Amino acid sequence: MKASARAMEDLCGIDPLVKIFCDLVSADTKSDPDSKTVPSTVGQLRLGAQISGILNGLGFSCVQEQNGVVMCQVPASAGLEDRPRLALIAHLDTAPDAPGDGVSPRLVRNYDGGVIELENGLATDSSICRELPSHKGDDIIVTDGRTLLGADDKAGVAVIMQILREIASDPSFRHPALCAVFSVDEEIGKSADLIDLGKVGCRYGVTVDGCEAGELDTATFNAEAALVEIKGRSVHTGTGYKALVNACELASRFMQMLPQDEKPENTMGQEGFFHVHEIRGDAALSRLKLIVRDFTEEGLSRRIGLLLRIADLMNAELGESRVKVTHFHQYSNMARPLEEHPEIVRMCLEAYRRAGIKPREISVRGGTDGSNLSNRGLPCPNIFTGALCCHGVHECLPVKSLHLSHDAVKALVGVAAEGGAA
Ligand SMILES: [Zn+2]
Repeated sequence: MKASARAMEDLCGIDPLVKIFCDLVSADTKSDPDSKTVPSTVGQLRLGAQISGILNGLGFSCVQEQNGVVMCQVPASAGLEDRPRLALIAHLDTAPDAPGDGVSPRLVRNYDGGVIELENGLATDSSICRELPSHKGDDIIVTDGRTLLGADDKAGVAVIMQILREIASDPSFRHPALCAVFSVDEEIGKSADLIDLGKVGCRYGVTVDGCEAGELDTATFNAEAALVEIKGRSVHTGTGYKALVNACELASRFMQMLPQDEKPENTMGQEGFFHVHEIRGDAALSRLKLIVRDFTEEGLSRRIGLLLRIADLMNAELGESRVKVTHFHQYSNMARPLEEHPEIVRMCLEAYRRAGIKPREISVRGGTDGSNLSNRGLPCPNIFTGALCCHGVHECLPVKSLHLSHDAVKALVGVAAEGGAA
């Protein structure tokens, strides 16, 4: 079935949450892993400034930090000043994997469960987006096929902004002190370090950055990135016999020595992986970039150890040091800090129940702002936004799921107003 621009406009006219979402996605906030600036792109600064203006206009104290992070402090309702403060966090940037400029959302009304035809001829179906069939009958926001949608994570930003708007306009909405945080450069793994936890000043928080409705992420991967630098010896091919050492060949050999069944395309559930995502170079010098993921710290160390051993083995075979592996920490699993501070997870589960949502606690095969924030002392599980098939042109957002995300976060604010879950 076809998606329509007109239907999207009509819905924006009657649904304030969807309207906020559509306004947010019109801003290009794609982050850039190669940028040397903080934040990595100026679009994030522009959108952050706009949001600050809106929230200050509502009467809150909202500040855009030098690094682009937007923080909005919301004082507690009268009489609830002693309740622990709650942080609500979403990220402003979109993934660098697909174009993020000129996003033009379209609406599929009453989805029939079949193929969704995007405007540019591409089609989305259950082979691309596994969760689609369960959204039969829903209205679904899709792209025009040229860009990503940006529901990751502007759906989360929209949910938090809508709740702040409700707080501003409805004195009967009881809430503890809140800090809304709109972070930058999450998609390139830099955001959590840019958030000043002293300024956030909360006992616990949530990120609103998950996927399918009902999911609550309470575990993430442990993550490292690795760089393999391979030096060859460039000799004229005509006289290369026993002299030429081809760095391209060595790069290929390094990849072949990785466990072939431990790639993202061959793993699922609790299994970790190695993922070579970039190869660059020539016969003289080649570089492989990898990400390494595992749910346990021991598993991650074992994988890094394997990379180092492969390099040692190849160097021993070559009789000289040509392969070098360096690795960097990216983020850590949030499971342990959440087990040590389970209160916020209990509160989220209670909030889902109050919002009529059956919670599914899951280990997300990725990371969130909460991965590092939880390990830095702000316990921070991840609430769903409803966004599906993120980081590409097939990204979509069932409208009902977006509203459920809003209902869950609003209910959480209510639970926090009572001082937490029993
Ligand atoms: Zn995200």
